[in-house]
Amino acid sequence: MPRNAPRTYYIQTYGCQMNERDSETIAGILQSRGMTPAIDINTADLIMVNTCTIRDKAEQKVYGLLGRFREMKEENPNLVLGICGCMPQQQKVAKHIKSRYPFMDIIIGTHNLNVLNTYLEQVLVERQQILDVWEERAEEELVLPALRSGHFKAFVNINWGCNNFCTYCIVPYVRGREKSRSPEVIVKEIEALARDGFKEITLLGQNVNSYGKDLSERPDFAQLLELVDSIDGIQRIRFMTSHPRDVADCLIDAMAKLPKVCQHLHLPLQSGSNHILEKMNRGYTSEHYLRIVEKLRLAIPDIALSTDLIVGFPGETEEDFQDTLSMVSQVRFDSAYTFIYSPRKGTPAASMEGQLESAIMKDRLQRLMKVQNQVSLSSNEGLMGTIQQLLVEECSQGVGKGRTTGNKLVFFKSDKDYSGQLVDVKITGAKTWSLTGELGDEG
Ligand code: SF4
Repeated sequence: MPRNAPRTYYIQTYGCQMNERDSETIAGILQSRGMTPAIDINTADLIMVNTCTIRDKAEQKVYGLLGRFREMKEENPNLVLGICGCMPQQQKVAKHIKSRYPFMDIIIGTHNLNVLNTYLEQVLVERQQILDVWEERAEEELVLPALRSGHFKAFVNINWGCNNFCTYCIVPYVRGREKSRSPEVIVKEIEALARDGFKEITLLGQNVNSYGKDLSERPDFAQLLELVDSIDGIQRIRFMTSHPRDVADCLIDAMAKLPKVCQHLHLPLQSGSNHILEKMNRGYTSEHYLRIVEKLRLAIPDIALSTDLIVGFPGETEEDFQDTLSMVSQVRFDSAYTFIYSPRKGTPAASMEGQLESAIMKDRLQRLMKVQNQVSLSSNEGLMGTIQQLLVEECSQGVGKGRTTGNKLVFFKSDKDYSGQLVDVKITGAKTWSLTGELGDEG
């Protein structure tokens, strides 16, 4: 007996912007079947969990959710349950989910969202359980529908996978080797977004700087930025993530000369210690990193820099940690995502000697955050009295909210709704995580 076709869906997304973007594709595919979003997870006819495997905590949350699904499925046997993303992309994990959670209908990885409709038919008509994990991404994925989660800002994938094999990271094993989309397809997607009124594009990839290296007639990443900069209607371009080893001079030149490219670079440092950077297989030293920062600030004096930092990598001594604190003070990052090292099974770092005690790592994280917060505050205070252009994200109950070109969040009083517009504000207040401002006369 065929099952009732699901009418509403709920997507639970964990992890990075790449996953958020994939969830937009899932939503697009489900909407193309006539389905609509459910009010919440409890009322949905179909639930899809898009998973992340970077940290143990994210995985535990997913297993907690799968545990809850058992009861939900008993109450409603027609409920369709799916899981995708980086967790089931690992064959071992996919098989574990299939045997431990036999009520899951669809178990797929990161590479085969393009077949979701077919899987759904098999589940509904043939009442089959689907487990299908592909090693490579399908080309057809390039033209999949997507339901964008915002109205003014959109993510656009430019490449997938990673060739870097940092010793703590599972991504190259899960997402595979680097694969670039063709520039024509990227430009077409962004032109369509511009026609739909999108103003800001964030180009996404695990390592955007190596874009094009696998294409036969490649533009490199700097040339791709030029192509995107010339698209009418797009007003701002951001990108992430960049690898410090691959920040070429031509990229810095492109950032300096292209008017739509935002004055912000997210450049993960991870550690300030050369000894730890080598153990991480990051492929650069702290001196190299400082040279990039110098070039960037010479070319783009007001550039905002953000970073990722890991504390407690195996073998990290107090001296290594002090090197990280010293880099934070020298570079003066506008903001930083700080993490405690989390061992991932299957990565070289997980079996390295010198794994640190949790108390030491927590203490280092606290000390790092204290220093970074002071730096963030003083960087924000440096903007007091300046005029900043914001892309307004929303205005509600008399308060507008938008971001500067440096990606800083600014709140301002406003009686009118400027959502989706660029406005100038004078910065009048600074906190660690945000600024306040006043609209200019024209606002
Ligand atoms: S660059 Fe390193 S940390 Fe980033 S995705 Fe690749 S392997 Fe992981």
